[in-house]
Amino acid sequence: MQASYGELRPPERVLMGPGPSDVDPRVLRAMSTPLVGHLDPAFLACMDDTMALLRTVFQTQNRFTIPVSATGSAGMEAAFVNVIEPGETAVIGVNGVFGERMCDVAGRCGARVVRVDQEWGKAIPPEAVAEALRGVRPKVVAVVHAETSTGVLQPIEEIARLARAAGALLLVDTVTSLGGVPVTVDAWGADVVYSGTQKCLSCPPGLAPITFSERALAVVRGRSRKVQSWYLDMTMIEKYWSGERVYHHTAPISMIYALREALRLIHEEGLEARFARHRRNHEALAAGLEGMGMRMFAEEAHRLASLNTVCVPEGADDAAVRKRLLEEFGIEIGGGLGPVKGKVWRVGLMGYSSKAANVLALLSALERILGRTGGVAAAAERLRAA
Ligand SMILES: *Cc1c(COP(=O)(O)O)cnc(C)c1O
Repeated sequence: MQASYGELRPPERVLMGPGPSDVDPRVLRAMSTPLVGHLDPAFLACMDDTMALLRTVFQTQNRFTIPVSATGSAGMEAAFVNVIEPGETAVIGVNGVFGERMCDVAGRCGARVVRVDQEWGKAIPPEAVAEALRGVRPKVVAVVHAETSTGVLQPIEEIARLARAAGALLLVDTVTSLGGVPVTVDAWGADVVYSGTQKCLSCPPGLAPITFSERALAVVRGRSRKVQSWYLDMTMIEKYWSGERVYHHTAPISMIYALREALRLIHEEGLEARFARHRRNHEALAAGLEGMGMRMFAEEAHRLASLNTVCVPEGADDAAVRKRLLEEFGIEIGGGLGPVKGKVWRVGLMGYSSKAANVLALLSALERILGRTGGVAAAAERLRAA
């Protein structure tokens, strides 16, 4: 039997879920430009630009600031697998899915994991980290800056201070914050910070930007045994991204073209303007949802502008509402994970997707589906005041 496969024609969606976010057409165009070899001088220049632009968004001087060739989770894995040796202790903040994933990854690296648990929807209090640090000699302290499962933005400064005082390296997950809310690697004094391309950087999924402080690199170089993962061994990858240009694996050329273009867009917009845009649209969305009588899930003091969690209203059918949003309005939002499955919706306002038009379109669609009013008006009012 002869199968017939048609041309792929994906539907047009407005991506307002927990990632991927919408991509600027300039990024898609950059991806479709001709391939060159991964050691071509033209590509080496593209790599250098990408590293320089990444340092700007991470707000760091770290020389070793590169994209790992895989999605955000590989950034997480690269962070742990390079600095942890079996038997060492990792103190990890857990207030959602991604803190939980960190524990899994660290455990697989042979770490003794000390969890600092907090209720979902709340930030981890520094006192709880201080408590966990008492009597242990951790190699790392790790936290998620932007918990995509709950919409909580974790303050880093105090935890960074505690980690340093304990002689530990600080690992931070900025997958849903980089390029949307301030990530200040050097000001924090963080040692290993990673992200992903498909959230606030508004690039397709496929790369994980990561940065290592000199202190962290010294730890990696001073290991008593090799990094367990050949693919993610930064001592080898460093030789490709630095002056030596030694082949390790074939760089995903087109993805790096895309990232460079996405970073150029951020550079043109300016970090402060971009953060202000994310904040403005987040506030308009929250005002709109509350204007419709709905309740935000994350505690007010620690709400994340790029990922908004709202409680599913009484009587509404979680999956049915999301299905109608997608099918009738072309809008994707996310459902809850784990303990908040069926209880919250997750609305991403990340990068190119963070626009007033998207906020108003979603609220208008929700008004229709839920038979409520007041959302669009409240958001429009907030946008006018901004
Ligand atoms: C999405 C996400 C990840 C994982 O990234 P993938 O690209 O899905 O592998 C890790 N941490 C956080 C906080 C995320 O939001």
